[in-house]
Amino acid sequence: MKFVLALVAALVAAAPALAAPGHPKRTAIGHVALPTNVRPLRYDVTITPDAPNLTFSGQEKIQLTVASPTNRIELNAADIAFRKAALSGRAERPKVVLDTTQQTAAFVFSTPIAPGHYTLSLDFTGVIYEQASGLFALDYQAETGKQRAIFTQFENSDARRFIPSWDEPGVKSVFALTVHAPAGQMAISNMPVASSVAGADGRQTIRFADTPKMSSYLLFFALGDFERVHRMVGKTDVGVVVRRGMTSQAQFALDAAAQLLPYYNDYFGVDYPLPKLDFIAGPGRSQFFAAMENWGAIYYFDYALLVDPKLSTEADKQGIYVDIAHEMAHQWFGDLVTMAWWDDLWLNEGFASWMENKATDHFHPEWKIWLQTKGGEQGAMRTDSRGGTHPVITPIKDVFAAANAFDGITYQKGHAVIHMLESYVGEDAFRAGVRNYIAHHAYGNTVTDDLWREVDAVSPKKITDIAHDFTLQAGVPLIAMDSPGGKSVRLTQSRFGADAVSKTPRTWRTPVTVWNIGEPWKVVVSAGRPAVATDAVTRNCPIVNAGQTGYFRSAYSPELWACAVGMFDRLTPEDQLGLIYDSRALGETGYAPLTDFLALADKAPSAATSEVVRTFAQQIAALDGLYDGQPGQAAFRAFARARLAPAFARVGWDKKPGEPDSEALLRSTLLATLSQLDDPGVVAEARRRFAAWLTAPGSLTGAQRQMVIRTVAAHADAATWDQLHALGQKAVDITDKTRLYAYLGASHDPALADRALALSLTKDPSATDAPELISAVANVYPDKAWAFVMSHRAQVEAMVEPTSRTTYFTSIASGARDPAMAARLTAFAATVPASARGEVDKALAAIRYRHDVVTQRLPAADSWIAAHPG
Ligand SMILES: [Zn+2]
Repeated sequence: MKFVLALVAALVAAAPALAAPGHPKRTAIGHVALPTNVRPLRYDVTITPDAPNLTFSGQEKIQLTVASPTNRIELNAADIAFRKAALSGRAERPKVVLDTTQQTAAFVFSTPIAPGHYTLSLDFTGVIYEQASGLFALDYQAETGKQRAIFTQFENSDARRFIPSWDEPGVKSVFALTVHAPAGQMAISNMPVASSVAGADGRQTIRFADTPKMSSYLLFFALGDFERVHRMVGKTDVGVVVRRGMTSQAQFALDAAAQLLPYYNDYFGVDYPLPKLDFIAGPGRSQFFAAMENWGAIYYFDYALLVDPKLSTEADKQGIYVDIAHEMAHQWFGDLVTMAWWDDLWLNEGFASWMENKATDHFHPEWKIWLQTKGGEQGAMRTDSRGGTHPVITPIKDVFAAANAFDGITYQKGHAVIHMLESYVGEDAFRAGVRNYIAHHAYGNTVTDDLWREVDAVSPKKITDIAHDFTLQAGVPLIAMDSPGGKSVRLTQSRFGADAVSKTPRTWRTPVTVWNIGEPWKVVVSAGRPAVATDAVTRNCPIVNAGQTGYFRSAYSPELWACAVGMFDRLTPEDQLGLIYDSRALGETGYAPLTDFLALADKAPSAATSEVVRTFAQQIAALDGLYDGQPGQAAFRAFARARLAPAFARVGWDKKPGEPDSEALLRSTLLATLSQLDDPGVVAEARRRFAAWLTAPGSLTGAQRQMVIRTVAAHADAATWDQLHALGQKAVDITDKTRLYAYLGASHDPALADRALALSLTKDPSATDAPELISAVANVYPDKAWAFVMSHRAQVEAMVEPTSRTTYFTSIASGARDPAMAARLTAFAATVPASARGEVDKALAAIRYRHDVVTQRLPAADSWIAAHPG
């Protein structure tokens, strides 16, 4: 799954706190799950959706095995009403016992069922939701009028809202789905249609081929007025499914998938095992996820799959390519081989997050995607060096806590750790291990150590110990380099922590690469084992974490830092980013002066590569956020604008013929940053272009259009805000509409922020655009947005799917730096289940962190800036 990064993680606010005492069994590995004495082999399910009335009915025959005598068969069901239940060979109708807290249904008989094979037959009805979980409806405007399509989203544990089932990743079965659908609509599931028969009642009966053995969370079904474009790639029918009339936007995704499939077949050493692979687009969005890897039927919201040449930007296209690569990697890593329980979710997500970049880099080296991943890794490192973090492999007590695991630690730290381990053992050895892992566990379930074992079996360098250090304990190592005696180089390891709780000493066996010492110097450093290279300092300066594939912070002694900065221009872009990121992080936390970072920014060469300048701009934008409302802000902004000016003069407003994407991305970042810094020239030019565009629609497309509207919206007056609102109302493209509404929340004018908040409660923005609008206000005015969501809590909760509610509310406050907000958030935490508080803890740590930087670090920065004016 591609989770929504802005929200970091999702939790269940509405879900009940914990187990009622009694039947859910605590298994050997310590989580609450269904009893294991009855297991399913196959589900034959027939669904009749009634989309207009948001309900459906189902008939189900479950072939199951009873391993030991029992008088009850227990499975998962939520929001399901049973009309009939029967077991083969039994005349007695079982009593149906529902546990709405644990989301189980038990079928209880008066006498024990003997071990053997049975068929459990169930008739039931269920609910079609309006937010994206379970079976859900998305409405949209088509040329023929208002239309409704339905889709499913089951990860982590919502298949139980569609079919009563053993809804745990470790229980794999065959699913045979049949659907009674209105004639003329297209139905999509994991497998191709096996037969389709028109009925006299105006409905068609569509039967899909049996799935392979798989986990319930990977089942998929969609129904609507769709079109499918497709192409054979080897023996796989690859398709993109869109709403009628939108096939022109599907081509980019189809080309990307066709390009990637042979690469993955080769990388994993096992061909994609299903006969078809579909990518399905749905309108709207979720606060939890952008895309989901259902086996053979990958679901995306439009914005993560479709490319409109008039509207999409270079960044959109790269993001879509990466998202396609992510979900395709899951078809093997997650779908063919699946984690046994949610503790190991990272194995799915960390791996897919790494693989998406490896595959993208293979086909688009010019995008420099590895450089672009560093920003996400930094986000994870910041979280991981504060209170509220958790190990990559984290115990998940029950499915209600599983949504906890979808966060930056699982995805971005997971990705970074795998990248580090791959570069430690080498590409070939790592791939050989992965191939054996896939081959040995196909159609089965695994734990993380199964992967390490396979890599260790083929690699001369062993990774299990290192992998354990980085996945079983939280936190970030600090590798410090100094030069005792002036000639040798010494590396020592401690822990990098931004607050008291994250400074507790800890040791990692950390693979470190140092450039400019030997060829290059590779060594494993741990707390008790410093590493020393003698006669190592030459006229080239040693660079720690060369290539930046290690998950740690690097600190230099003052002489070695000065030396490294002195040769900044000669470093690789990766290592330039390393110095930038580490100097800001060390400066904000007091390990080094924050002025080290400013000094680096001061000499930021406008001739550096686009990605490096872009990173500088992003760091400057982040620091500006900390300066908000501070006395030093005006001077900081003047300094920042002056440092960004040469780069902006180079890229300009307009795309140059044949320029690489990286220049377009840099332009967009520079304009966003200069707009944030209230650069008068940029704001005036955006207004001029906006006014011209209003009279000549079509004069702005793609990124240009986005940059102009975004800048105008941030600096809007009431009349401009009304114009933007009218544009949003008129917009036809769903992704464009969402963005236009979100811009209404981005105004720096507090009165307009209030209007945006009020608008979110009306039916004017779509149901899924309303929460985006509030989030946009929170980016500028967290306090205002927080007060609003708290005073309209029930209405705002209804806008967000239950799994995301606590996370969504937390995200509204998380950008604040006022300790008063920490107190409000703590009060909020007391109103949500204990298992849902992890995200709140992370946000509290982030708020305190910002407060500390503002009070403890900015004064020195102010003095430095005064001495280095714009
Ligand atoms: Zn994923």
